[in-house]
Amino acid sequence: MIALENIQFHYPHSSVGVHDINLQVETGEFLVVVGASGSGKSTLLQLIAGFLTPLQGRVLLDHQDVTQLSCGERGLGIVLQDYVLFNHMTVLGNVAYPLKVKGVRQVERHRRARKILHDVGLEALEHYYPSQLSGGQQQRVAIARALVFEPRALLLDEPFSALDASRRESMRQELKHIQRQFGVTTLMITHDQEEALMLGDHVAVLEQGELLQHSAPHQLYTQPVSEAVARFIGRTNFIDAQVINSQRIQTADLGILEVTPHAFTVGQTVRAMIRPEAIIANPVSDIVNRVPTTLVERQFLGAQQRHYLLCGTTTLSLESASTPDHITHVALPPTHIHLFNR
Ligand code: ADP
Ligand code: MG
Repeated sequence: MIALENIQFHYPHSSVGVHDINLQVETGEFLVVVGASGSGKSTLLQLIAGFLTPLQGRVLLDHQDVTQLSCGERGLGIVLQDYVLFNHMTVLGNVAYPLKVKGVRQVERHRRARKILHDVGLEALEHYYPSQLSGGQQQRVAIARALVFEPRALLLDEPFSALDASRRESMRQELKHIQRQFGVTTLMITHDQEEALMLGDHVAVLEQGELLQHSAPHQLYTQPVSEAVARFIGRTNFIDAQVINSQRIQTADLGILEVTPHAFTVGQTVRAMIRPEAIIANPVSDIVNRVPTTLVERQFLGAQQRHYLLCGTTTLSLESASTPDHITHVALPPTHIHLFNR
């Protein structure tokens, strides 16, 4: 288990860092921290790893306070973006290296390294040198090396961002498989929201050094707590509106919309959001929140099509598997409309 309590850190002569971070990764859980470039992800990972020391707050591993321990004393497996393998050592030598540092005898460390290489499907490559491997294979060696001493947790900093798209996809699946197989508590950081939703048991969103939301992927997507989270995770339509009562809002171009009961005050200006796939094209005529519209543009996305629709001066994007020739009306189901403060 990893726990961060009120972690505060900024770089010298700068206000940039991470602010009041509280976060828990349960034993065996896979947590992904996602955020834009520069949001503080690597800083956070380095605070957990022990490369940086927080100015305030505590880092706990399995309930032990490790805040003042060095990286080596924390017993963590770490995988970084650029694999940093030893080029003069074979795959076996690289994977066995952390055990060598710990003083494990050669016979034993080779036995354990071979076992891990077998588990991650690299046993045939043990005599290869890193320069003879593909990027994906090198990163698997780095993961094997991080797991060989049975770490208390595995930390990964954008491990696949140097790989091309197709390799990245298969490495994600492989990492998920390895993580489940070993049951190792894992914290990975990425700027890629698709990767985060796919891999994380939970996903935490970081923006400018602050955690905005920490939820299961499905909840993060369907119940974002703020406009910032909704903007960062997935595609979204936003519509400005004013609250009429607890179940109705007034919009400029879509008229009055029914919404699920909320606690905003009457007259308050709010921002409504609805996902592109939640909007219904050409609905039956007696449906709630039915609005006339004009199809402006269609984009082919493969399995899905994206339709740009104009309602007055408001553009909505609608995604669906079907491609109707004409879209004359859309419906915005109340349960899919979320309201945020403006
Ligand atoms: P991310 O990994 O999310 O891209 P980082 O944690 O690397 O973000 O950086 C967060 C912020 O801290 C950025 O604005 C970056 O410029 C700044 N930063 C990173 N390292 C240092 C450093 N050693 N000294 C000063 N500022 C830094
Ligand atoms: Mg980074």
